[in-house]
Parts: sequence; C-alpha cells; structure tokens
Amino acid sequence: MIDLRSDTVTRPTAAMRRAMMEAEVGDDVYGEDPTVNRLERRAAEIAGKEAALFVPSGTMGNTIAVKLHTEPGQEVICDSRAHVLDYELAMVAWFSNCVIRAIPTDDGILSWDAVRRHIRPPGPHWAPTGLIEIENTHNMAGGTVYPLGAIREICAGAHERGLPVHMDGARVFNAATALGVSVKEIVEPVDTVMFCLSKALGAPVGSMLAGPANLIAKGRLLRKRLGGGMRQAGILAAAGLVALDETPAKLGADHSNARFLAEGLARIPGIQADPGKAVTNIVIFNVSGTGFTSAEISARLKQSGILINGINERLMRAVTHYDVDRAACAQALEALAAAVLR
Ligand SMILES: *Cc1c(COP(=O)(O)O)cnc(C)c1O
Repeated sequence: MIDLRSDTVTRPTAAMRRAMMEAEVGDDVYGEDPTVNRLERRAAEIAGKEAALFVPSGTMGNTIAVKLHTEPGQEVICDSRAHVLDYELAMVAWFSNCVIRAIPTDDGILSWDAVRRHIRPPGPHWAPTGLIEIENTHNMAGGTVYPLGAIREICAGAHERGLPVHMDGARVFNAATALGVSVKEIVEPVDTVMFCLSKALGAPVGSMLAGPANLIAKGRLLRKRLGGGMRQAGILAAAGLVALDETPAKLGADHSNARFLAEGLARIPGIQADPGKAVTNIVIFNVSGTGFTSAEISARLKQSGILINGINERLMRAVTHYDVDRAACAQALEALAAAVLR
C-alpha cells in the first residue's frame, strides 16, 4: 500500500528500533527516566525554551498549553480551520472551560490586524480573550507556513496586551525546512510551542510541549491529570531522539514530492490543485470537477493500493513522508488519473 493519508503512518526506522531496544529507562512519573529527561532537554534546546515536556500526543500537548494559559470563561483566538477547533474533540471547552473565537482566513495564516480586531477586553457582556493560538504549518489549509514577520507581529501585539501566544507546531520542522531557518528562530517569539515527533519526524509515539520552566512544571501535573503520566517511557523517547537527530534533513524530499504530486494533480482533468501552494508536505486538491465524490475516489484508489482520504465531499488531502518515495508518488498519480476516468 502507498499510504498518503497522513504523515502519522510512518513506521519507525531501523535506527529508531535499535535505540528503543537499547534505551536506558526508569520511572518517568518519578522523573527518573534518563532517556525521557534527555529528550526533554534536547527538545527544549531545539525550541530555544527553558523546558519541555514529553506528552503522548499532540492533542494532549495543545490541551495542556491551553489550560496553562487560560482561566475558565475566556476566549481562545485561532483561525477557523484550526486543529484545536476541528479535530480535538472540543478539548478547549472540556478541559479548559473556554470557548474559541474563530477567525476565517484564506490560507490558515492569521495576521496581527485580524487578531487585534477580535481581542476582547473584560466587560459586562463578553468573555475576555485569554490566549492566541496559531498553527504552523497549517494542516487543513494545505501545509501553509507562517512568515516569520507575521509571528513576530502577532506576538508583539499580544504581549503588549498581556496575552500569551501558543503555537500548534505539530509540523513546525516542516515550516523550518520550507523557510530554511531553525525551529528556534520560528518559535522564538511564542510563549509555548507543541510539536509532534509522530508526524513527519517519524517517531512511533509522542509530542513535545516547550516553554518557560514554571509553566512546563505545572504542565507536568496536568499531563498526569489527563492520564499521560507514563512510566518507562524512555522506550518511546529513544525513538523521539533519533527522530529529532535524523529526520529533519529528510523533510526537503517530502516537500519536493508534495510539489511533484500537486503538479501532476493539476494536469488531471477535473482535478484542481495549486502547485504553488504545496510548500511543505501536504497537498489539498478539489475533485468536484471529476463528477466523483472524495469517498468514491478513495474507494477506487484503494483497489489500486493507494490510500488517500477526503476532507469532505469535494476536497482530498495527500500527505508525503519518508515512507513514500518519488516513484510511489508517480504511481499514486497514475492511479488517480485512472480513478477519475468515466
Ligand atoms: C496531528 C496534529 C495535532 C495533534 O496530534 P495528535 O498526536 O494526533 O493528537 C495537532 N495539531 C495539528 C496541526 C496536527 O496536524
């Protein structure tokens, strides 16, 4: 199977499996797992933050961050297709008792001007803003990347008003590759950042939440409360360390494969794709002109050994990663061209 449904489907590499086998472990709830401790130090260093916390999932990392930054009854500003809004089971409401103030954007990228107009001060009628959340790269907008200037402007404006900024950086390493800068430079102005080891970086499990030491210490308690206190988690952290060391250098290949896919898709009659927008590892394309629904195309593709999911009836999303090479992408394009023939 050529699996383009997500970059979460990557299997651990031989180096990761070896590191897992050999990992030194202890009880991480006691803070005694040397490999987890090493991963947390390394992640903090990469992000240029004081501390980092190993969490089982990106959703848990975002959930903890929202709770750390807000009080019940506040609003969290994010764009209208944000992962925290659409794909985290209303955790912002469930765990932090906040509501989301969603701002529509063209490409998932917020501007300070748009954010500024939605910030609410305390008053007799409205919930005050507690947090600004930005997603980089933006998943549902097709892996779009925040320009460094936009992040700096949003953070400067927010901080001037005493508001924190959290980055959902599930794929921030892809953003760094696309911009040719370090992750540290991207996340420098934000208060906290979550990034996934389990997506394009290829680790089997886990995400990191990085930020100021006092917040991360509180986050450790929230992680336990959410059921994320893991014991000999060094087995997992070992793979995460390899992912941080080895995978970022491979992301450029994923990006050029995504671009290749987008260019090929744009040539298939009835499919709309914009190769100029495929700047990282996600390609979103519109199949409405083919006369088939996404679900019908997915089913046909599956018969040729290709997995690609729809986002809705018209839009489909293909995600490249290290388990899919250029030849596999070419094969996926051929299968797609055949699948949409009447
Ligand atoms: C995948 C993803 C997450 C959450 O990660 P899980 O580990 O699946 O919980 C958060 N934000 C974005 C943008 C993602 O793509």
